[in-house]
Amino acid sequence: GKMEPTDVNALIKEFTNLAFHGMRAGKDPMDVDIELELDEKVREVDLIAEDFSRVIVNLCNNAFDAMREKQNSELSIQNSEEFSPKLCVRTRLSDSESIVIEIEDNGPGIPDEIKNNIMQPFFTTKKGAQGTGLGLSITNDIINAHGGSLDVESEPGKTVFKIILNV
Ligand code: ADP
Ligand code: MG
Repeated sequence: GKMEPTDVNALIKEFTNLAFHGMRAGKDPMDVDIELELDEKVREVDLIAEDFSRVIVNLCNNAFDAMREKQNSELSIQNSEEFSPKLCVRTRLSDSESIVIEIEDNGPGIPDEIKNNIMQPFFTTKKGAQGTGLGLSITNDIINAHGGSLDVESEPGKTVFKIILNV
């Protein structure tokens, strides 16, 4: 793919939806409430759309996996309040030079002990063939290749991956 002006909000809509339908078509479908808060002031940005779409899909898939894990563990605890998986994807202009994309889930959160390891190639907490541990390292590489950065903030019940792109 080549770098070209890309409507970031449209790309996010398309690939969040694609990831959702891929998950629903898989062997462990889950109902997820998806909320998009896309600031219309965020317009075209120079991106390799083919690569950047993988960033969105990878982060959504991780969120779905995390929420599924939480759902499964809640099911095994009797009398627990029902958990409703929720994914929120936001865009906004942070100043004249950068846009922020946030992908937030209400899954279990990322334990402090592993926060520093999750971007490393082959690091995974998923069992068997479920996880390659390559998703976040590829995601981070793609964002860096666009001159951007990837941060994560997480606490129990909430994880936010934050992409900053300079425009
Ligand atoms: P994989 O998905 O194959 O495990 P990734 O590089 O995509 O590899 O993610 C690495 C690890 O980071 C995951 O195994 C998981 O432990 C953690 N992780 C990533 N995203 C989330 C999230 N949204 N919530 C909780 N943990 C996460
Ligand atoms: Mg992954």
